Amino acid sequence: MAKITTLAEFITEQQVLKPEATGNLTRLLYDISIAAKIVNREINKAGLVDILGEVGEDNVQGESVKKLDIYANDAFISALNSGGQCAAIASEENEEIIILDGLESKEARYLVCMDPLDGSSNIDVNVSVGTIFNVLKRKETNKEVTTDEFFVKGTKQVAAGYVIYGSSTMLVYTTGNGVNGFTLDPSIGEFCLSHPNIKTPLNGEIFSVNEANEKIMPEGVRKYTEYCHQLNNGKRTHTARFMGSLVADFHRNMLKGGIYIYPNTDAAPKGRLRLLYECAPLAWIIEEAGGKASDGFQRIMDIEANDLHQRVPFFIGSTEMVEKAESFMQED
Ligand code: MN
Ligand code: MN
Repeated sequence: MAKITTLAEFITEQQVLKPEATGNLTRLLYDISIAAKIVNREINKAGLVDILGEVGEDNVQGESVKKLDIYANDAFISALNSGGQCAAIASEENEEIIILDGLESKEARYLVCMDPLDGSSNIDVNVSVGTIFNVLKRKETNKEVTTDEFFVKGTKQVAAGYVIYGSSTMLVYTTGNGVNGFTLDPSIGEFCLSHPNIKTPLNGEIFSVNEANEKIMPEGVRKYTEYCHQLNNGKRTHTARFMGSLVADFHRNMLKGGIYIYPNTDAAPKGRLRLLYECAPLAWIIEEAGGKASDGFQRIMDIEANDLHQRVPFFIGSTEMVEKAESFMQED
């Protein structure tokens, strides 16, 4: 029988590699994986029970909230609260930070940013959805958490990851030692190492842009899209894929080679995606996989947030593709 490495074993082994690690981060990542399994279970039965549909309220950014968004938000908050390693959470679903009140939370050294359910408008049609998260480290722990503790550059992340609830469920994360992917084996209920040391190709064929935005997106993205439409000896040079489910689009492109762009548009002048809990975690993951992420001009990891729900134009994927798109952005 082939040797199986579970996520729990792997994060414990990783901890041994880092002499300064105390085990708290290990515990926190483990708590996140437990919540991911609980959310996975709910998503899998979403078609069976009356859990679908709008709750009838808008989230803080005016988007309609589905029941599973709230379920996932609660599951992650409760796992992190009982784990005791997390002091506060910034979530897409909550306008303000959530200060945890678990027994050990006050002394906890970590903060978590998360999009508990990404792509949730796709749930009703059975398209993959995800969870995106990162972990930040507090400078001091002997005071109440303030919102500005979350306003750090992506370079300060100590862990970043996502879960994709797809044809199989995977958890992919980095702590700065490369990117590793774990597939949930439902028969034993464990995430098992299936994609060790993921590297994204330097160049790829897939481009993921919502081309319906063509008339309202920046000239540079329009030109890059035209460039992708070019033929070479009568054959297409690129292929278009866009699900509108960020984690799913990102995951496919990272494994196969590609670029995902959500630019600023006339309708969304700062872009649509959120820096803290969507762009920064994925940016670190793609960099660890050998790729690149920017806002068209500046590295995502170098942008310091000044708002919990700050939006940013997002260019992410294979290095050569991102650099090509940036060159069109920076042309004039
Ligand atoms: Mn969401
Ligand atoms: Mn999202």
